[in-house]
Formats: sequence, structure tokens, C-alpha cells
Amino acid sequence: MKMLAGNWKMNTTPNDGLALLDALSEGLTPERIGDVHVVVAPPFTHLAWSVQRLWEIPEISVAAQNCHEHASGAFTGEVSLSMLKDLEVDAVLVGHSERRTYFHETDATIGKKIRAALDTEISPILCVGESLQERQSGQEWTVVERQLATALETVDAEEAHNVVIAYEPVWAIGTGEVATPEQAQAMHARIRTWLKERFDGGTAQTMALLYGGSVKPDNATALFSQKDIDGGLIGGASLSASDFLALLDALRQS
Ligand code: PEP
Repeated sequence: MKMLAGNWKMNTTPNDGLALLDALSEGLTPERIGDVHVVVAPPFTHLAWSVQRLWEIPEISVAAQNCHEHASGAFTGEVSLSMLKDLEVDAVLVGHSERRTYFHETDATIGKKIRAALDTEISPILCVGESLQERQSGQEWTVVERQLATALETVDAEEAHNVVIAYEPVWAIGTGEVATPEQAQAMHARIRTWLKERFDGGTAQTMALLYGGSVKPDNATALFSQKDIDGGLIGGASLSASDFLALLDALRQS
């Protein structure tokens, strides 16, 4: 499955977000979407009206950027999956490297969020990826394998069909530094093989593997044409409707 997901992060006021969503949905014609599943992940404050606004375009899903693993309770400032479900949010980013780094999310917490998302029938988009130091010391696969194994510990093959994996090398996120298509493909191939061993070949093949890290219209085609790259998780370039639509064109044509 081809997928293009836009992570707006903590950007856009509600008014700015509305304008961006309107510009995007204007360009998201059925011809342009083709066989790509488009996901938009705006801030929590924008979710309710984003779902309503995109209601008529079933190929587009709305995702939250984070969630809490408990259904309710004394967790001031947090948002639960049951709240997201009630808003008819379809998906949730889990384990983004900014959450791991700035909010100290551990692999164990991320595993609990994945479990809770699947139990609530919200598709988790699990983000994995190594730091620059880990890559320079040849640890990239050890790190990614540990992140996958812990996050997916309780997940069975049937549930795995609803999980999306985003490989996002930390050194390439928001830095302008992009993994080469060969580096990205090599990691995606390893992840695909791991999924095959962990689940089965059919499941591994149907799970979408996204690359994320400074994807822009001028580098997207080379990345998206790699065999095991099924699409992208896009940060900066998702804040421009024209860039995001150009990435959609690149993915649809790859
Ligand atoms: C991201 O936030 O997931 C991301 C990949 O950001 P950027 O495209 O800006 O590197």
C-alpha cells in the first residue's frame, strides 16, 4: 500500500491550519490521489474539524501525533485513544523521535501505546530510527530492531496489517540531511525481512513502510522508487500544500 503522511508537528494556529487543509483538499482530486493513501496529522486542536472537513474524501485519513496509553484517568494534559476514536480519528503517530528525545518516551511506553491503539481500532504509525552517533558506530540495525521488537511485542499477524512503520533516521529529521536512497532502501529491506520472520511473508508485504527525514519534492522520486519504500512521513514539506501535492505526484508515479 502506498501512503503519504504529513506530520504538521506543533505548527499552524487553528486558522492557519484551516487554510492549509483547504488548500490541500482542493488539490486532492481522485486523479491526483490515485492509489495513494493520504494521511494528515495536524495538532490535537485541529483534529475535530479536520475529520469533518475531510469527511467526503475517504482516501484521506486524519491522524493524531501522539496519544496516552490509558483510556482515561488522572493524567493531566494527556489525550486518550478513546477520545480520538470518538472524534473518528483514524490513525496515530507513535514513538516519533521528537517524543522519544524531548518527552523521554521509552520503547516500553511506545509498546503500550501501540497495544492501546490497536485495542481501540486506531492504526498506529510506529516511528523507528537511529541517531547519528548510532549510525556512525554501526549500531543502526541493533537500535531499529530493538525498537521494533519492543513496540510490536504483543502484536499478532492479523493486527500487524493495521500497523504502519516509518523509518526515520533521527539525523535526517528536520535537518535537510536526507538518507541516500540506498541507505533508506537497505534499512527498509531489513525491516521487511524482520517483519516476515516476526509475522509472515504476506503480512510483511502488505504493511506500509514509510521513509521520513527531510523528504522534499526534489529528492522524493529517488526515494519512492526504491523497492521497499512504500511512501513517506513528511514533516516540513507537509506545511506547504504545493510541496505536499508534489510529493503525492512523485509517490503516485513511482
Ligand atoms: C517528521 O517529522 O517525521 C519528519 C520526517 O520531518 P522532516 O520531513 O521535516 O524531516
